[in-house]
Amino acid sequence: MSRFWSDLATRLTPYVPGEQPRGTRLIKLNTNENPYGPAPGVLAALANISADQLRRYPDPESSELGAAWAAREGLQADQVFLGNGSDEVLAHAFAALLKHEQPLLFPDISYSFYPVWCELYQVPFQAVPLRDDFSVQVDDYNTPCGGIIIPNPNAPTGRIMPLDDVSRLLTAHRDCVVVIDEAYIDFGGHSATALVADHNNLLVIQTASKSRSMAGMRVGAAFGQRELIQGLVRVKDSFNSYPLDVVAQQAMLASLADEEWIDSCCKRVVATRERTASALQQMGFDVLPSAANFLFARHKNQHAADLFAALRERGVIVRYFNKPRIEQFLRISIGTDEDMDALLAALQDILA
Ligand SMILES: *Cc1c(COP(=O)(O)O)cnc(C)c1O
Repeated sequence: MSRFWSDLATRLTPYVPGEQPRGTRLIKLNTNENPYGPAPGVLAALANISADQLRRYPDPESSELGAAWAAREGLQADQVFLGNGSDEVLAHAFAALLKHEQPLLFPDISYSFYPVWCELYQVPFQAVPLRDDFSVQVDDYNTPCGGIIIPNPNAPTGRIMPLDDVSRLLTAHRDCVVVIDEAYIDFGGHSATALVADHNNLLVIQTASKSRSMAGMRVGAAFGQRELIQGLVRVKDSFNSYPLDVVAQQAMLASLADEEWIDSCCKRVVATRERTASALQQMGFDVLPSAANFLFARHKNQHAADLFAALRERGVIVRYFNKPRIEQFLRISIGTDEDMDALLAALQDILA
């Protein structure tokens, strides 16, 4: 608290990000980073940035990158909006498309930034409970609303909703915007960008942070029909005109040029995920089916808070949310096979 803070600054409850410890001795499985690093071409592109490129302002529209990313999704250059990480894109979507008189709907257990933006932008919202198995059921959203936002796969549960359900949701809510936040889609799902052509109320958000292993760079995008994209552009240009910097634009272009690398890294993550899930089950964990690069698991007779603390003592950081319904769960990001072996060994030791 400070007397210098505005009413807004005083009132807000800020988002608490996962810890980013200094030093490298810890095994970091708490923020869903990808262990394999970006495509080699990304590092080459970074090494090739010239003084002249840095001297000048970047292309404010990121036109070349926008066209390339849209093309990857089978879309046109005017159907994409780029931002500094998908968090920035999401913030613009809250202000431009999701703020209405009727409440915004999202799952009671989902990305914890959503209520933070609602508070910041004064968006009324209503949390829709996930089912007991932590699945999203489209019929639960049949209530008057000003918009809907759902991460798919959901975070922190990892559960995915089939594309048919997304399609039904879009048809049932033709009069409001439905945002599908696809931060983890490359780890085993089909993107809803395939539905953009048929649904003018759909906005799909993607990021370079997870599957492309570029969380340090901050690149995200929204895909939708022109009307929605123009809404985002209006808001961005009115109070925030930070384009992607020239380095981020070049790096992301290089990432898009090597889809083979992304595919093979995602496949490795998925194989490690499945192996880790079985091992955890054998140790007495219930593990939700995951389509993401993390697992959400609860031990049958150990408190998650205790496990979290004991893992930390052994140099392994996972994520623990002290929130209703999920206070018995740990969210464990998928690292290398070595990282996961260290996690499993630490758990063996704790449970022994
Ligand atoms: C990680 C994550 C984001 C944010 O990603 P950035 O592009 O790094 O800002 C958005 N939504 C969900 C559900 C995430 O898990």
